[in-house]
Amino acid sequence: MQIFDYMEHSGYEQLSMYTDNSCGLRALIAIHDTTLGPALGGCRIWPHATEGEALEDVLRLAKAMSYKSAAAGLPFGGGKALIIADPQKDKTEGLFRAFGRFVDTLGGRYLTTEDVGTTLRDMEWTALETKHVTGLPESYGSSGDPSKVTGFGVFRGMQACAQEIWGTESLANKTIAIQGYGKVAQALSVHLLKEETVQLIVTDLFSSALDNIKDHPQVTIVDPDDIYSVSCDIFSPCALGGILSKTTIPKLKCQIVCGGANNQLETIEEGELIQKQGILYAPDYIVNAGGVINISCEIGTEYSLDRAMNKANDIFETMNQVIQTSKQENINTALAADNFAVGRINAVKKLRRINTGL
Ligand code: NAD
Repeated sequence: MQIFDYMEHSGYEQLSMYTDNSCGLRALIAIHDTTLGPALGGCRIWPHATEGEALEDVLRLAKAMSYKSAAAGLPFGGGKALIIADPQKDKTEGLFRAFGRFVDTLGGRYLTTEDVGTTLRDMEWTALETKHVTGLPESYGSSGDPSKVTGFGVFRGMQACAQEIWGTESLANKTIAIQGYGKVAQALSVHLLKEETVQLIVTDLFSSALDNIKDHPQVTIVDPDDIYSVSCDIFSPCALGGILSKTTIPKLKCQIVCGGANNQLETIEEGELIQKQGILYAPDYIVNAGGVINISCEIGTEYSLDRAMNKANDIFETMNQVIQTSKQENINTALAADNFAVGRINAVKKLRRINTGL
């Protein structure tokens, strides 16, 4: 990768690297864009096989965070941190305190929080060295686990898609297939199961994750490999990214795809493929923005879950706007979402140029 060319071409502002031999820290922080505010994004810990893979991952994730906050109307830019290490065996207080010192060197341009492989405890260690940590436990006056708000936002996104496809936001009599029954899927199911005629088809890699739901009368459990091909109205990816590919999309038997997982499309091309198959795709970062919305409700003010839920309610309207733009401009919803997010960033950039005379 020609790193400077790539960053310039894709609009990245900054890429920082940091090592600390005393604890074995090797970390990267990518800042995509800070036009709208400080770059917010989680800290992922993952043992990437090569430095190239790690770089690609952190850069891609930082850009997705810019788009997510922009589309949700939040005062944040996009960034991401990556610690190259094994979350099963390498996590120590020393590692996260060193990471905290790294975050602190950026002076608030990057705000961190938990992500894949990191936990609230890791963020508490990080916060011993820097104040630029968000999403700490509620006992700190922070916003804590965002899953409740994320699950609600995905639910509102589904309702906006239902309105488009079936002419009503009600999900009565619909069957929803959920891939991955973790924190977001559980929060989503609370809303879905309030409607007694909704049926869920659920899978998880670990059967223990399904213990609380497997005997529910509205729920059927299937094997992980079977979830793509079950007949359903809505497929809801709530596990990991990259699962909508040229192999899996042709298997889908649904009218809507709407779920909480990040980076669901293997590449942007799959956005076109899914549309051609007659499926309405709810862009992941539009409907799973509840996590960043939750964090926005702790910054500069006392955190309130009610306020976060109220803001997440707006995801219905944002999703609807993306659908209408996609129809008017005859483009797929993934592209319509990207244009919507970039449009907000560029509008603020332009305003700033006018105000500063530059
Ligand atoms: P989680 O770890 O609590 O749950 C994920 C579940 O998916 C686990 O139970 C795991 O066993 C299962 N899983 C993984 N791969 C699977 C597969 N191939 N088939 C079936 N099950 C599989 O995570 P979460 O917090 O619920 O987050 C889920 C997704 O939503 C992630 O992609 C995350 O990045 C994204 N997300 C979460 C939030 C949030 O508020 N937690 C916010 C925005 C985005």
